Amino acid sequence: MSMLTHAEAQFDRVASLLRDDFPPEILDKIKMPRERIELRLAPLLSNGHVRVVRAFIVHHNSALGPCKGGVRMTPDVTLDDVQALAMEMTWKCALIGVPFGGGKSGIVASPETLSAHDKEVLIRSFARNASRHIHPLLYVPAPDMGTNERDMGHIKDAISYSLGQATTQGCYVTGKPVILGGIPGRREATGRGVVRVIAAAMEAEGRSLSGAKAVVQGFGNVGAVTAQMLVEAGARVIAISDIHGAIEAPGGIDVGALTAHVAATGRVSGLAGARAIDPAAMLTLPCDVLVPAAAGGQITAANAGAVRAKMIAEGANGPTTPEADDILNARGVTVLPDILCNAGGVFVSYLEYTQETQKEQMTREDVLRWLSQRMTERYQRVRETASARSLSLRQAAMTIAVREVAAAVMARGLLP
Ligand code: NAD
Repeated sequence: MSMLTHAEAQFDRVASLLRDDFPPEILDKIKMPRERIELRLAPLLSNGHVRVVRAFIVHHNSALGPCKGGVRMTPDVTLDDVQALAMEMTWKCALIGVPFGGGKSGIVASPETLSAHDKEVLIRSFARNASRHIHPLLYVPAPDMGTNERDMGHIKDAISYSLGQATTQGCYVTGKPVILGGIPGRREATGRGVVRVIAAAMEAEGRSLSGAKAVVQGFGNVGAVTAQMLVEAGARVIAISDIHGAIEAPGGIDVGALTAHVAATGRVSGLAGARAIDPAAMLTLPCDVLVPAAAGGQITAANAGAVRAKMIAEGANGPTTPEADDILNARGVTVLPDILCNAGGVFVSYLEYTQETQKEQMTREDVLRWLSQRMTERYQRVRETASARSLSLRQAAMTIAVREVAAAVMARGLLP
């Protein structure tokens, strides 16, 4: 099953709970994307050759505001994946309470195989070709898998250049360097938010992060910050993986040393004091919390029965398939759903968006305080809804979000 089939299946489950509250055509309307855009980029790379690259943009829903969502650069991303991810952004923005709709972009390329120069050329080509679809009141991109702060700086520059202006007016892209109007704390916002939700959930279950054992899949923007924050909260991170392999250290991985090791070697494998383990076996290690923070579809019907974590915190988008979700729920494993757990990034992106409109720089302390408050408050709302209506945390989160989007569609009215 594809990511899109999973995302639509999750939606259909929740839509069936809301059939009495909204007409079916409204639920159908918010399930479908507004626009699926396919682009052909043709950047001239440093080897003197033009490379033809496919790219996608999906504007899923803009009832609550401009579409918001990151740019994914992976060799296997598809237009359907981008639609699934854009759909998730619609629910995430509604749940976390920011006036954005859902969008997403994909560029079919492998960032590891591109030089810094060629990646910049490719990103600029994307920005130029996508410029009709990117605007503060239409769609505002951000980093996602395979893209980062530097790339967002290039997107802003390429759009300013296309407009013939020194800069852009309003926020065309978030997650950019602070010196270009970015916001302090955005880079680590998603990982920090993940750990805040884990801490709140553990507290609600009468447990504590202090002394807890954690496993983290992925050591990029989300995984590395999550691992670091878990250690700062007193947890022991016993295993970490990336796309090349996985490492384990039962006494706890030194995340600072791992960050330096990855900066030097480009992979987690080979860290002194840790041993290599099978990445698939890592997902079933006994632990208090497992954080998938890499690709989608990692916990499936095939391995959910073997998961020995007490809690799964979805740092990644769509890491658990609907069948796996059922198995985990039946086994009493707490699943902190992606649209709640990793929403810290888009929440701080909203602060960046307002900062750029109001032209007043926010402090890191303010950003981190608001982030922590919002994540805690939304976790509590989801938990209360789940217990009041006997729903899983995912069903509760989705119900709140879909209700908000459907209400916005109804309030806007049905005619163009
Ligand atoms: P990234 O590109 O910075 O890092 C991805 C990491 O995952 C890398 O370490 C990579 O080696 C690893 N990886 C990729 N495929 C893997 C696999 N099959 N097994 C193990 N490791 C694998 O990406 P990121 O920004 O950290 O995003 C990670 C996930 O979090 C994605 O699902 C993304 O959609 C989601 N997310 C990101 C943000 C954000 O602010 N960056 C916000 C919300 C959700």
